[in-house]
Amino acid sequence: MEAKRYHLYSNQLKEQFGHRVHKISVDAGFGCPNRDGGREQGGCIFCDPTGSGSVGLDHRLSVAAQLQVGKEIMQRKYKAQQFIAYFQPFSNTYAPVEALRRLYDEALSVDGVVGLAIGTRPDCLPDDVLDLLADYARRTDLWLEIGLQSSHDATLQRLRRGHDYGCFLDALARARLRGLRVCAHLILGLPGENHAEILATTDEMARLRLDGVKLHLLHILSGTELGAAYQRGEIAVLDQESYVTLACDVLERLHPATVIQRLTGDGPRDRLLAPLWSLKKWEVLNAIDAELARRDTRQGERCG
Ligand code: SF4
Repeated sequence: MEAKRYHLYSNQLKEQFGHRVHKISVDAGFGCPNRDGGREQGGCIFCDPTGSGSVGLDHRLSVAAQLQVGKEIMQRKYKAQQFIAYFQPFSNTYAPVEALRRLYDEALSVDGVVGLAIGTRPDCLPDDVLDLLADYARRTDLWLEIGLQSSHDATLQRLRRGHDYGCFLDALARARLRGLRVCAHLILGLPGENHAEILATTDEMARLRLDGVKLHLLHILSGTELGAAYQRGEIAVLDQESYVTLACDVLERLHPATVIQRLTGDGPRDRLLAPLWSLKKWEVLNAIDAELARRDTRQGERCG
């Protein structure tokens, strides 16, 4: 197991299953109420037409076929045998319960799939959907991933998220009532947010003792409102050193038991406007490890 100064998701999976388990992203063809007018029109200002999805997903293929393709790649690359089906782009609970059940069942029917990770928005989690997820959580490894980005309502408005922090807290409370594990997605380096505000969001996550957190570096993509603002010179992005410092500050303040599912990200090469240094993901991750070692600190060291 990789020795880390933070609670790395792949290590948690290894502890749980006794070997490596790989996540495979699938695009099940969902929409998003923030894009189709259900809540707002136009979507989050950083979101591109792929709905914040990974490169190469093809919703024209069935969920099972996408998993099969992903499995073959993972088997070739890592000799992997077990997988988590990650319903990633758009809002993967934005459909009636019966439609959701069909798609999640299809994923679990694929040989070697031992769990589900469901990415969604906090306002797409009515009680009947949470009941359905709780049913899956009793028989498979299930993570509910909720896009939050920031705990500051002013930031959420600026991003045109179409929900506030209270909406996240409400969804989290109802998910926890059902025993679901929740991973919150946060973005570091959002326009208009300073260091202290980012750490305030972190302290909120620590106070809530979240089961998991994904830290995303803000990626500016072409074809987005944020991309247009960047090209007009209206916003700046973090340099690598600032991001590494910030990520370490955040790790120190998170609860030590919170699973870190992501610490940066490599944006789609063909659409990424900035920051281009983020394409060297391993360099960033190594720099975070080195900075934690230099400080001789670890996750949770400064958790209140
Ligand atoms: S909630 Fe997700 S899919 Fe919807 S507009 Fe925002 S980033 Fe895009």
